[in-house]
Amino acid sequence: MLGGTFDPVHLGHLRSAVELHEALALDAVHMIPASMPPLRGEPHVSPAERLALLRLGIGDTPGLVADPRELRRDGPSFSADTLATLREEFGGQARLVMALGHDAFRRLADWHQPERLFELAHLVVIDRPDFEAPLPSALVALIDGREVDAAETLMERPAGGLLRLALPSRMAISATEVRHRLAEGRSVRYLLPEAVEARILAHGFYSGS
Ligand code: ATP
Repeated sequence: MLGGTFDPVHLGHLRSAVELHEALALDAVHMIPASMPPLRGEPHVSPAERLALLRLGIGDTPGLVADPRELRRDGPSFSADTLATLREEFGGQARLVMALGHDAFRRLADWHQPERLFELAHLVVIDRPDFEAPLPSALVALIDGREVDAAETLMERPAGGLLRLALPSRMAISATEVRHRLAEGRSVRYLLPEAVEARILAHGFYSGS
């Protein structure tokens, strides 16, 4: 599972998903847009539209799935609840992985039921340029004893471990930067898949007008 606001999806998300799929030999990477992210402001574009952009961005990429399961639930999107639905679907012995960038990981201790995340899945933290700050002490306590240093070790069990991964193509792309550029009428070429850029421009999303 790679959850996010995807407001909008960009090549940092998509390339990370492809490289995760490869590095961990996953069956599939479910990219799951949050309808209502609990720890940030209202997204700029509706959940259905963020999902449509995600689908366009994924296109026919092998192994990547645009998964609408959080959009079917009312209220805030808690990752623990989402993982519980995946666990139910794939069974107790499936190896489940929740992947997130280092910036999101730093705030993990503030999430809803953070210990439950580790009961349901492994956590894989993706290195992200510009987000290298040290971990807060509550997080250090939460991950104590969980870290492993190889994907093979992680995959020996269905859940409970932590792995930090430096994927080959670390990309300093953020949705915030993409939105700023669009609001100022500047180019976003090669930051997003072309089909995503075309739809955003055709609809005037994030244009600031
Ligand atoms: P914003 O700038 O609006 O906060 P974002 O670019 O961080 O957005 P999100 O949708 O919040 O995108 O991110 C979803 C997940 O993808 C998070 O775990 C985030 O850390 C991760 N992520 C986002 N951009 C990258 C990137 N360039 N490289 C690696 N991981 C990323």
